[in-house]
Amino acid sequence: MTGDRQNCSHITKTTCPYCGVGCGVLAARQAGGSVTIVGDPDHPANFGRLCSKGSALGETVGLEDRLLHPEIHGRRASWGEALDLITARFSETIREHGPDSVAFYVSGQFLTEDYYVANKLMKGFIGSANIDTNSRLCMASSVAGHRRAFGSDTVPGIYEDLELADLVVLVGSNLAWCHPVIYQRIAAAKEQRPHMRVVLIDPRRTMTADLADMHLAIAPDGDVALFSGLVACLADSGALDRDYINQHTNGFDDALEASRQLTMDEIIRQTGLERGEIEAFYALFAGTEKTVTVYSQGVNQSSSGTDKVNAIINCHLATGRIGRPGMGPFSITGQPNAMGGREVGGLANMLAAHMDIENAEHRALAQQFWRSPVIADKPGLKAVDMFRAVADGRIKALWIMATNPVDSLPEADAVQDALHTCPFVVVSDVLEMTDTIRHVHVKLPSAAWGEKSGTVTNSERRISRQRSFLPTPGEARPDWWQLAEVGKRMGYPEAFDYDDVWQIFREHAAQTAFINNGTRDLDLGAYAAVDRPAYEALEPFQWPQPEGAAREETRFFARGGFFTADRRARFVPVVARGIARASDAFPMTLNTGRIRDQWHTMTRTGKSQRLSAHFAEPFAELHPADATRHGIHDADIVRIKSEHGEILVRALVTGRQRKGCVFVPMHWTDQFASKARVDSLIPSLTDPHSGQPALKNAAVRIERVEAAFYGFAVSSRKPREPDTAYWAMGRNEGGWRLELAGDASARNVEQFARLVLGLEDCQAIEPLAYSDYERGDTRMAFFDGSRLAGALYLSDNPVTVSRTWLCSQLTGDHPRPHDRYRILAGRAGADLPDKGGIVCACFSVGCNEIAAAAQAGCATVGEIGKMLSAGTNCGSCRSEIQQIINGTRLIAAE
Ligand code: SF4
Repeated sequence: MTGDRQNCSHITKTTCPYCGVGCGVLAARQAGGSVTIVGDPDHPANFGRLCSKGSALGETVGLEDRLLHPEIHGRRASWGEALDLITARFSETIREHGPDSVAFYVSGQFLTEDYYVANKLMKGFIGSANIDTNSRLCMASSVAGHRRAFGSDTVPGIYEDLELADLVVLVGSNLAWCHPVIYQRIAAAKEQRPHMRVVLIDPRRTMTADLADMHLAIAPDGDVALFSGLVACLADSGALDRDYINQHTNGFDDALEASRQLTMDEIIRQTGLERGEIEAFYALFAGTEKTVTVYSQGVNQSSSGTDKVNAIINCHLATGRIGRPGMGPFSITGQPNAMGGREVGGLANMLAAHMDIENAEHRALAQQFWRSPVIADKPGLKAVDMFRAVADGRIKALWIMATNPVDSLPEADAVQDALHTCPFVVVSDVLEMTDTIRHVHVKLPSAAWGEKSGTVTNSERRISRQRSFLPTPGEARPDWWQLAEVGKRMGYPEAFDYDDVWQIFREHAAQTAFINNGTRDLDLGAYAAVDRPAYEALEPFQWPQPEGAAREETRFFARGGFFTADRRARFVPVVARGIARASDAFPMTLNTGRIRDQWHTMTRTGKSQRLSAHFAEPFAELHPADATRHGIHDADIVRIKSEHGEILVRALVTGRQRKGCVFVPMHWTDQFASKARVDSLIPSLTDPHSGQPALKNAAVRIERVEAAFYGFAVSSRKPREPDTAYWAMGRNEGGWRLELAGDASARNVEQFARLVLGLEDCQAIEPLAYSDYERGDTRMAFFDGSRLAGALYLSDNPVTVSRTWLCSQLTGDHPRPHDRYRILAGRAGADLPDKGGIVCACFSVGCNEIAAAAQAGCATVGEIGKMLSAGTNCGSCRSEIQQIINGTRLIAAE
């Protein structure tokens, strides 16, 4: 399957591999091997739109850093040898210690077919349910909430509802950055229908707030109280749908009673909101029939996540606002195929085809369909418990696929230690080095996005094809193939006899329809006999799609028909507990999450120069009052500590943060920074129903780091990891950029600079140097002919050079001394433009350019777009552009 990437090829319709919006993309290989990406105008999720991450996909498909052949204990091995070893070690462990002594930890990056084979092997042939996925960290609380209320893991609505609604309530959801195309769809609808209202419920004033008519800066985990209290308000204001409640639900009186127990004073205490804010929100919700409540990680990643989900669903059931156009609770998933994983039982507490592992009839159905020797008869270990079991020796053989738990799980340092003690760990990945892969016994090279085929399901139950358009490099193989080969070697050649991926999809579709008869929500019977040509031509579609006449209704539950025993929904009388974790020792609340241009642990987006420009280093966003209280200034290095670990990041002081809270992004790993793995701070506290960890409410303390020096560097070569307390590096056009800070200044600055910039072997290159001992500044630039090889700026205070301009100098020619002195000065000079920090990643437009355009009279985002193109492609930066315009107006008014 090896091939070169030099040939020009045709356009391939495929899907973006990042978030749960599930956008369609058109990928084309160009002569010379580059790949261009545009949005698919025909895909119903995005109609041609893409965000900054999707637009930059072409920059992430290079082969540098790829794992291209199997390795055993660090030596190259053949596939046969590696697969035989995995089979032998897993089989031997199962024989000696039972099936629950082994586990698979997989990923929402898996395609549905990968997931299907993994789940079948573990639950049907090994006989354990010890398969869990990083989707546990993402939306397990939504799954648990759906199953408690609906009897099934069903998302009732579709994206179109967000455009048809008169009120969109966004709870714990920074759509502008995390699901940008959904944000753009809502923004466009609001422009068309100005009476549409948007409410944002989030402790932070995120970029999404700029679309909102009302922002409720709720206290962390105050959501259960807010939505539980809403039920009584709906009853008192005549907003209940009594017919719906009577005909289609059970348990309303208990939910109302629980709501009445909650006084307004208690709601105020738990939410931290003003009475007037709460009453205004309640009145708006009660008075707007067409309401959609969108929720994502701010709801799910909590020790009360499932109760939050049910508190929201209760309000929609009570008003009958579910399954009709413009109405319903709507969980938006974080990962591209979290939904597909749920459909085939990728979670340890589900079976397959949305069947329940606790249900003996369902277990018999699954076993009968698979003709398997065994079937798992109880839920397996969920992610956090799975790694605890690795640590204490209950799990003795572990296969990790397409995920990076040493960075993403809570108590991440303990996860790292657990891998060290595990007798046998296999990792399947596309990269040769991640924080997880360096601790394993066997490495298997997987096919990457662009090289593998299958299907994914987005947040509105829409199944789309992911199609390969690049040759698979080296000896990389798809994940489903690796699993099937082990299944065959374990003695089940017929059950895992797949030649191609379409056969797996067909089997999965057939299983969803197997003795279903309308008893289960997921039914793909229409595809149970799909063949290769039909699979290749598969257009995006929404389930259910039972065999026979096409199903026209794409929503669920407008007329009841829930998947409980009596086909009625269940109200869950949730109890609001108000969860404050801060203490005297750890007085601040840590919230973790995503930024606009990075994805997960940067294994893919970290390859893109454009995406690395928006935020180039890890940071802690904190309120000015907290900064003052702790003696912290903007751009200081800060140490954040919890009971479980500590990290070093850059301080970003902003009024958008709630007092007492600090936000740190989840993306930086040991591959990109010295000490910024934020999940090393998070305790392994999970929701009791879903097992989802509380990644948004951890107790920490923050302190300023007294650095002896700060530094910034640009380099045409990848910098050496400096031996300094703090460093962070990222890609840049023509090379790399590096931030650093340390406890002790280097004695020999030139030696230090050459070491950091990787220029020790280039002694012939003389530095151009400048020092100002009074200000504590030292600068050094190295030129190879007329090209800049690297430059280092050291200072006693945070370095204030023009970073974006300096980064752009790596690709230019600098023949004149004058040009070289500018580089040493770290500024373009008055006669040259300095675009400032990059705001629009698509067109590389900086904040200085936008501010200048605003000062020149551009009053709207659209006018800025006309002048600079900024914000006219993916639109992810439109909120930031608006802020710069607002800031310019404020300055003008002063
Ligand atoms: Fe990809 Fe962006 Fe679409 Fe999400 S919104 S699927 S990241 S293009």
